[in-house]
Amino acid sequence: MPTRHSASRRTARRLPYDRAVTGYPLEPDDTTLQTWGDAVLSRVVDHERSLADVPVARYDVAESLLELLAARPPEDAGDLPVLLDVVGEAARVGLVPSSPGYLAYVPVSGLYAGALAELLAAGLNRYVTIARIAPALAALENSVIRWLCELFGFPAASAGILTSGGSMANFSGVVTARVSRLGDRFADGVVYVGEHTHHSVAKSARLAGFPPDALRTVASGDGFRLDVDALGRAVTDDRAAGRRPALVVANAGSTDTGSVDALGPLADLCGREGLWLHVDAAYGGFFQLTERGRRRLSGIERADSITVDPHKGLFLPLATGALVVRDVATLRAAHALEATYLQDAQPWGDVLSAADLSPELSRDFRGLRVWLPLHLHGVAAFRDALDEKLDLTMVAYEALRQTDGLEVLHEPELTTVAFRAHDDDHTRAVLEHVNQSGRVVLSSTMLDGRPALRMCIQGHRTHRERVDEALALVREGLRC
Ligand SMILES: *Cc1c(COP(=O)(O)O)cnc(C)c1O
Repeated sequence: MPTRHSASRRTARRLPYDRAVTGYPLEPDDTTLQTWGDAVLSRVVDHERSLADVPVARYDVAESLLELLAARPPEDAGDLPVLLDVVGEAARVGLVPSSPGYLAYVPVSGLYAGALAELLAAGLNRYVTIARIAPALAALENSVIRWLCELFGFPAASAGILTSGGSMANFSGVVTARVSRLGDRFADGVVYVGEHTHHSVAKSARLAGFPPDALRTVASGDGFRLDVDALGRAVTDDRAAGRRPALVVANAGSTDTGSVDALGPLADLCGREGLWLHVDAAYGGFFQLTERGRRRLSGIERADSITVDPHKGLFLPLATGALVVRDVATLRAAHALEATYLQDAQPWGDVLSAADLSPELSRDFRGLRVWLPLHLHGVAAFRDALDEKLDLTMVAYEALRQTDGLEVLHEPELTTVAFRAHDDDHTRAVLEHVNQSGRVVLSSTMLDGRPALRMCIQGHRTHRERVDEALALVREGLRC
């Protein structure tokens, strides 16, 4: 607690708050506005230019940097270039998903146009989740959602929300399914997932209030895909045991291997059994833009809800995810509530308010991060880039298959290929060799109970040379 004395001293020192004397520091003058903006933007441009050369993995950190990062904010003003240096140094530590050598997990490569959109959105700082407050910007976000609904062949009654990522999209999907299929009392409900379902679905079920035994993990059949017959048997058994089967979560691009579940047969089963079909296409959804992807994702148009991650499939900066739902009424039923302090926010024409359809009220104007890059580059640029990644994955697949000492575990359906050495020690040695190169990072998982390496070729900056370099590093690692 500050004493009365110290509080009044501070007040005395700060007053008068007179622009003529000190300026209002939180409202920089015109020159400062420009100088600061230029300084930040030139850092972003330098970063973009350096991405092909900076180490994709780096873990050495100077003690002095850690001290700077832990420091409390000072009472007095700092210096922007110095602060930007600190952030720049901190950003060199760890894995760099924007690097063309980042082939681990699912790359989020961060399109430059998306970064500019984010800066613009924050600069505009508008309240876009209630249509009445920013009707035209809300309409812009609506147009992004409409485009997504049409991409997946959803009917006119469909709608969706922009989320911070696939995890939150899965969460809203699970809650929507729960409300739609089970109502308010749902402890006897069952949620079916596969062995390769992303863990965010189990987390969503938990956050949605399902007890742990509501989650049923169905075995995989061929190609790491959910076994539809086994699912059918599980549903029958659960009904016989007095439970209420409610929701099936299918993959359109599993994180482990990029496998796509048999969406048509799953839609048939869900239709017969009255189950909600949620397709987690966080990683794979945007391959729907390509001819090959559309073939592989066939059946997705019959889902009740779909998660997609524009920050993966459209290469956008982090925190750009989406959920689309076949029937907007189900989304609204799960999320809409009223409040007296929002009573002035009457609807504005047909423009949907995201606040009625999602858990969030205040949030960033994230639709601009999707809208601006799509309109600036055109959809074909994204389709071509995704096609290139599909081609590169086949190049990697063929090369890995022809490498003595390696076993490739599946034929890639999207842009991930999983492989391993004949013994686990060699598998680990390859991972270590590649990941300490500074040029490429891979990640590992467990498949059929044994370690496996994943190469996920998804970043928009990743082209043939870097894939060849990755393959050469894998071969070298085998010889270590
Ligand atoms: C990445 C991913 C998620 C989680 O998405 P975030 O955007 O990281 O929250 C969910 N499902 C799948 C299949 C994913 O690949």
